[in-house]
Amino acid sequence: MLARIKTNLKYGVKQGREWLQKWGTRRRRQIVSFLLIFLLSLTLTKVIWELVTEEIAIFGFHDIIDVTNTTQMPPQREKRHGDYTKQDLEELLEYLVKNNYWFLSTQDLYDYFIGSNTKPIPDSRKGQKRVMITVDDGYQNAHENILDLAIKLQEKYDRAIEIVWFVNPPFMGKLGKDIPSGLDRVSCEDFRAGLAAGFYDLQSHGANHTNLTELDSQKLEDDLSKSQQILRECTRDVDSDRIVANHIAYPFGAADDRVENAVKKYYFSGYNYSNQTLKGKLKNPYQIPRVSIHQNIPPQRLIRLAKGGWI
Ligand SMILES: [Zn+2]
Repeated sequence: MLARIKTNLKYGVKQGREWLQKWGTRRRRQIVSFLLIFLLSLTLTKVIWELVTEEIAIFGFHDIIDVTNTTQMPPQREKRHGDYTKQDLEELLEYLVKNNYWFLSTQDLYDYFIGSNTKPIPDSRKGQKRVMITVDDGYQNAHENILDLAIKLQEKYDRAIEIVWFVNPPFMGKLGKDIPSGLDRVSCEDFRAGLAAGFYDLQSHGANHTNLTELDSQKLEDDLSKSQQILRECTRDVDSDRIVANHIAYPFGAADDRVENAVKKYYFSGYNYSNQTLKGKLKNPYQIPRVSIHQNIPPQRLIRLAKGGWI
């Protein structure tokens, strides 16, 4: 890649020089030369920064639907913007597994990449590329399809993937007809099974899926503490390392200073939806960037993002 950059730079300088000889007076030539050098330096700095900076893509999915299952397709289930198909997800996950990606859990990201005292990366993980797959809200279809893919990939490649769930715990096990989203939610028992199998990392998405910035202080505290408490109670005997509900993803990605200050009392980190990848050292662990995924983003684009592709 460096050779390609060098060739492109050389070509740019040559073009610039030819243009100057043709069009410039002496004074104008000096100004244009200065601007040209300035722009080239900026480009070079950007190239070097991109090459040396650690980059981690954190994807945020919602419901996952199987196009071969009529109960998950129209007219039985209306399409939603945030849907992603099981078939496209399989293409992404299979690429990541085949290429030996480290599927980070929220605690991995915190311990090794963003906490105030990051730990050294374990030898077994050195050299591996990193990615985080997160799924919001806790929909039943997403659970069934993801678990099926996780088992299939493990059988085929002998590797376990880890998926981060950001859950609204009071909705666990509720039927779509009884809750605002209209979609069935995963039960506590099913989440426990996924956690015990090593495929799931269970974290909080607030209790009631409300925009936290719009809650008064008391309701905010209640929402944050209740979601943590219910999720931990559900998983206590299968969470020996006490990693459940240590982290939160803000509903709608919304958090301001007041929300962050309240969140700090209960959680080590918070995830937003800035549609950026995580680049370099993050200053604020309560604004971890996620890329929001919807049905119009092809898996090839996600693979490019996971590779840190920008060029
Ligand atoms: Zn959500």
